[in-house]
Amino acid sequence: MAAERELTRLGIQVVYAVDTGDPATPEGLMTRRIFQALDQYEAEKIGRETQRGLRENARQGYLNGGRPPYGYDLCRVRHPDPARGALGHTKSTLVPNADQADVVREIFSLYLAGRGLGEINEHLNRSGGPPPPSPGAPMRNSRRRWARTTIWYILRNPVYCGLLVWNVRDYSEFRLGLGSIKRKPKSEWITAQQAHQPVVPIDQFERVQVEINSRRRREGSSRRRSKQKRTYAYRGHVKCATGHNPLLMAGKTVKDHTYYACTYARQYGAEAAKEAGHFKTELIREDVLHDATLRFFAHEIFGGGRLQILREQQEALRREVNPQAGKARKRLQTSIAETERRIRAQVIAIEDGLELRLAQNRIAELEQELLELNGALADIETERKEILDIDSACTVLDSIPDLLGALRDAPPELLSQVFDAFRLTLEVNRVTEELTVRVFISSALGGAKTIEDVARLAPGKTDGRPMRPPVSDSFIAGAGFEPATSGL
Ligand SMILES: [Zn+2]
Repeated sequence: MAAERELTRLGIQVVYAVDTGDPATPEGLMTRRIFQALDQYEAEKIGRETQRGLRENARQGYLNGGRPPYGYDLCRVRHPDPARGALGHTKSTLVPNADQADVVREIFSLYLAGRGLGEINEHLNRSGGPPPPSPGAPMRNSRRRWARTTIWYILRNPVYCGLLVWNVRDYSEFRLGLGSIKRKPKSEWITAQQAHQPVVPIDQFERVQVEINSRRRREGSSRRRSKQKRTYAYRGHVKCATGHNPLLMAGKTVKDHTYYACTYARQYGAEAAKEAGHFKTELIREDVLHDATLRFFAHEIFGGGRLQILREQQEALRREVNPQAGKARKRLQTSIAETERRIRAQVIAIEDGLELRLAQNRIAELEQELLELNGALADIETERKEILDIDSACTVLDSIPDLLGALRDAPPELLSQVFDAFRLTLEVNRVTEELTVRVFISSALGGAKTIEDVARLAPGKTDGRPMRPPVSDSFIAGAGFEPATSGL
């Protein structure tokens, strides 16, 4: 099978970290592990902020002067209230950006002409094609390509037919890491008949929505027919980082083997995948991942040298963590100040005659965010303490029983829960030919006696209802493990 041959040729090596230092020596391995832990610490914080940024964009942020949707520019106009206007106060409205509006119109007509998202994507990514929308978060889409999801959101966004709609997306499961962003029922949407110029006529927009639903029904039914449900133990735990930002790989079964496939080419097009230095379909076999994971657990988590590894990391961690946490804290404090300012802006908007119901909704959202921000700030303090508390870290690690045998024999469903509890990630990089294994050790793991105990610590997915994960978010860095990356 082609994929197996490729794997041998690449000689994927399992390393427990990447960064400076020669992994062949204990010192090198240690250094790498520490850097990884710190990178992760940062990534987690940035991740939370990115989510907030995306949420912000998806809402009516631009009304308050945030980023306009692709196809529009933000135009500040003199405040309609003469007294406020005289004071130099402004309001923001959307005006079509001629070039971008043409692209939006093209996307809508291509879709109605029967073209798929992939085809439209390839068309836009042609050389000399229009530049994609600038990403909300700079670390995303670093290769500046149109993505299928971008096209998808454009086709679904009623802003293009002149409506401002918000409260559309449901982030409740996404925020807990239990699922994707969902759409709320239409009855909960809030529509403002804002006076901005439509880019596509409303009837064309509605025809596209009908078309989206009917294509989805067709695809959905064929998918259900062809695939029976099965559990991929590593689902949500494997990422491809081959020349691009880490992206989850999707499980698939080909003949008797289970693989995980990178979706980068599907998302950004074959050309972008080639540029990133990987195949159109980047696959990794599950048994390769499983071997690496078991070896990792055997050595770093259950092995006799685990406390030694942890103690060796302590000094370097202490030197690195403080400045990192300081930066994260500063960012959060800025966000808190900004959110407080936005709440005040809403109060002013009420005074200006904004419908009370709209403002109340927005204020409630902002207050929720404020709550989360303050929570994150408190987390940083806790995490910082825990990172540096070597003795309790050792206690937790030392109390985890050797579950290697149980892990080896576990069925996929159980494995998947155990991996959730450890927040395992495996990151594949074909360019550097490395596979990086990372887990978090939560203090909640300290009490686990059996593999089932560990599984119960996984964030629950029972009957599709989001539950607060019983595992505390705080972690002990350096406990002979690499931390996990959480992505979108
Ligand atoms: Zn990839």
